[in-house]
Amino acid sequence: MFVYADNAATTKIDPEVLKVMLPFLKENFGNPSTFYSKGREVSLAIEHAREQVAQAIGAKPSEIYFTSCGTESDNWAIRGIASRYTEKRGKHIITTNIEHHAVLHTLKAMEKEGYEVTYLPVDREGFISPHQVEDAIRPDTLLITVMTANNEIGSVQPIVEIGKIARAHKVLFHTDAVQAVGHIPVNVEEMQVDLLSLSAHKFCAPKGIGALYIRKGVLPNNLLQGGGQERGKRPGTENTAAIVGMGAAIEKAVRTMEQNTAKISVLRDRLIAGIMNNIPYCIRNTPTHDMLPGTVNISVRYIEGESLLLLLDMNGICASSGSACASGSLDPSHVLLALGLPHETAHGSVRFSLNHENTIEQVDYIIQTMQSITTRLRDMSPLWENVSKESSFQEKEPVVL
Ligand SMILES: *Cc1c(COP(=O)(O)O)cnc(C)c1O
Repeated sequence: MFVYADNAATTKIDPEVLKVMLPFLKENFGNPSTFYSKGREVSLAIEHAREQVAQAIGAKPSEIYFTSCGTESDNWAIRGIASRYTEKRGKHIITTNIEHHAVLHTLKAMEKEGYEVTYLPVDREGFISPHQVEDAIRPDTLLITVMTANNEIGSVQPIVEIGKIARAHKVLFHTDAVQAVGHIPVNVEEMQVDLLSLSAHKFCAPKGIGALYIRKGVLPNNLLQGGGQERGKRPGTENTAAIVGMGAAIEKAVRTMEQNTAKISVLRDRLIAGIMNNIPYCIRNTPTHDMLPGTVNISVRYIEGESLLLLLDMNGICASSGSACASGSLDPSHVLLALGLPHETAHGSVRFSLNHENTIEQVDYIIQTMQSITTRLRDMSPLWENVSKESSFQEKEPVVL
């Protein structure tokens, strides 16, 4: 059986989305910035996609700017606000210690340039509280940047409450909503965010296209200099086919969200219970409330995550260890360490991210495969030999759902 369970890393393009894209890779190739009709058709299609994206997050079309990816949107939001408002507001930025590297590495680079960053620590389940944000605000705070949903464990932050605090203190607020858009309801008015990053390949559109929502009146400087595209704010000839695909995909994701969430969360809970109840010495890293519908992260103690992934792959299952960026490197995931897991435990972690294409049969196959390969790997581990001698499996607490 083949099971793709790595949808938090990227998704397959929806066939309906591909269909609306294809004309823009063939006959509708005109440059949207020109005046002849071949170009105008294309620019109308881009504006239609802009409306679709705006509508999906409760924004106005004029507040949506297409970028090349979620990473660019994060970089633009943070760098653009810093270069525009530092003089007036200061050099202090508030964030969390579980952000995506697109945010964390940007902030790390800015610390070397004289910015001061407060990294709010998350609790054992991966949440920060609004009070932590409020306590961290200073007179020189320039920006708060807190992700809506975490890509490794699926925790969803209290963005509405944080938005209220940011607004009350007149501090600009950015959220990386790349994992949230298309999966849970996102509304920029309810959240009171000033900037919001999104990326199309996380909701069944192609890779290499993203967007940044910028609230009217907020004026980040450009990241790129060049032509007049995207109302002068994001130069570069538009990736028309991808933009059109992003519009169609976000519209469909929002339209089918309720039905998909119902289906996917049942699969998620079945997968978690199946692993926790059948494999001893596992630790659930996905929170028990305020979580994404499809993200499952579990540490399997006394096992190397890399060997686990390898054997899963040999059995046709695509999963990932913590974050895609972290797999292949020997550093354990910064998110799992932030939850308080010891290094060895963080190392033996696996993330399954499900979407509406996954089935119950696939989930049961993952559970069964996890059982057999965990037994196999532990049988070869000297650490496990001591553990299994000393204690009985009854120690574990059964998961009741
Ligand atoms: C995937 C992801 C990104 C990066 O998006 P790209 O389009 O791949 O650059 C940023 N933040 C989060 C939370 C993500 O999951």
